[in-house]
Amino acid sequence: MKRAVVVGAGFGGLALAIRLQSGGIETVLIEARDKPGGRGYYWERDGFTFDAGPTVITDPDCLQQLWALSGRDMADDIELMPVKPFYRLNWPDGTNFDYSNDEVELRQEIAKLDPGDLEGYNKFVDYATYVYNEGYKKLGTVAFLDFKSMITASPALAKAQAWRSVYSMVSSFVKNEKLREVLSFHTLLVGGSPMKTPGIYALIHKLEKEGGVWFARGGTNKLIKAMVTHFERLGGQFILNDGVAEIETSGDRVTGVRTRSGLQIETDAVASNADVVNTYRDLMPNSSRGQRAARSLEKKKYSPSLFVVHFGIRGTWPGIPHHMIMFGPRYAGLLKDIYEHGVLSEDFSLYLHHPTVTDPSMAPEGCSSFYVLCPVPHMGQFPADWDGHVGEMLKERILDEIQKRFIPDIRSRIVTEFFYAPTDFKRDLNAHLGSAFSLEPVLTQSAWFRVHNRDDAIDNLYFVGAGTHPGAGIPGVVGSAKATATLMLEDMR
Ligand SMILES: Cc1cc2nc3c(=O)[nH]c(=O)nc-3n(C[C@H](O)[C@H](O)[C@H](O)COP(=O)(O)OP(=O)(O)OC[C@H]3O[C@@H](n4cnc5c(N)ncnc54)[C@H](O)[C@@H]3O)c2cc1C
Repeated sequence: MKRAVVVGAGFGGLALAIRLQSGGIETVLIEARDKPGGRGYYWERDGFTFDAGPTVITDPDCLQQLWALSGRDMADDIELMPVKPFYRLNWPDGTNFDYSNDEVELRQEIAKLDPGDLEGYNKFVDYATYVYNEGYKKLGTVAFLDFKSMITASPALAKAQAWRSVYSMVSSFVKNEKLREVLSFHTLLVGGSPMKTPGIYALIHKLEKEGGVWFARGGTNKLIKAMVTHFERLGGQFILNDGVAEIETSGDRVTGVRTRSGLQIETDAVASNADVVNTYRDLMPNSSRGQRAARSLEKKKYSPSLFVVHFGIRGTWPGIPHHMIMFGPRYAGLLKDIYEHGVLSEDFSLYLHHPTVTDPSMAPEGCSSFYVLCPVPHMGQFPADWDGHVGEMLKERILDEIQKRFIPDIRSRIVTEFFYAPTDFKRDLNAHLGSAFSLEPVLTQSAWFRVHNRDDAIDNLYFVGAGTHPGAGIPGVVGSAKATATLMLEDMR
């Protein structure tokens, strides 16, 4: 039986390990931290459960496939609960827009903003459907290993006008500025600015329309737990709390890995779910290929980081939906500050996560857990004192905003609170520049231009996760696992 090592148990690493083990490869999954999940880590504090990262589960089918491979049902290990509305979008002037895949309700919401945009919305849906079929369904789980594959995809990319941004495409269909924000903000969930991310990312609108928006009962951490359970039941070996210190090579072949605790594991192949720069630069110090690839990757553009305030409070808030986007006074200008200028603006747009409105078990009785997320420049642009003054200051400003807009007496209700900053992404996840989503999803860093699912020179070294094709987000990294597993299973046959 052939053996593979997967470095890192994020969503991508777990999905790949399940696929390999299901495909008859003896798979060892190694995770450096004390809990699996990567960006999907979690904390338990004072009776509250706080998921660290992903909360919006889309395309449940891409997860279900991981169980179906071995004839099992995901529902035996985890319950996904529907969330409605998918999101409430809220502006400082008090306007709310409830976004879902209920066509009648959605059209009523659009008509409230501007009935003149209903026709343009129909055209946007046609466009989103086209890019979903061409970009996600056909190409989202296929590796781009050579330029030829890019040329094959180019007629579809040209038809989709992929060089234009999501915001620019949306603006060609609808006129109302708030509606333009509603239909373009999704790229932020995968680390891209709506002003720069190619129009093909409008596919997320269709993805949510088709598959819905879901929440795992008990939190995203329970979905991660279910994936680990499933992997181990298949016979996979999971090593926790012991990072890979080196991916060992001989010539142009990987031969094994050495862990921080001194374990030496020989293997036929290695797939890294760790940060792409970190993998080449730090885990392959003796490989000239690794060092060369790292230098080239360091020159690329990285997605911003995030500043996340977690808080558990007394009281319940049935009027605050599960997912809320709180826009600030500026959209394009704010995005430019974060992505181009690399400054921390006075204003911000926030995402408020309120899991206890769907699943009260995530807080003590009569209490609620929340997190509020603020996109901020990565540490290469804004190397601030996040652990000290800057972090404290931003946390207070964010809580002030929640106080002003939704929970007037928030401070007297707080039972527990803490924040997670760019420095934590770097410290805990070795994230290059503290980026929350790895390489920025711009056209020149997508598909073949992204880190290849199999290394160009070392042909038994593979990659999976946000830095690879197709990119960040749970459907993205689970799709990358399918692309990488297809290659590995073929290569190791
Ligand atoms: C705050 C936040 C909110 C988000 N919200 C959403 C959302 O709602 N919906 C959505 O779809 N996406 C969301 N995303 C994006 C999504 O979470 C990520 O794109 C995705 O989880 C990344 O998965 P990954 O496979 O790249 O692995 P990662 O999560 O990056 O995990 C990599 C793993 O590798 C481990 N590792 C690193 N180095 C080593 C080593 N040397 N040895 C062993 N292990 C190692 C790390 O500890 C980590 O566990 C969010 C992201 C963040 C940060």
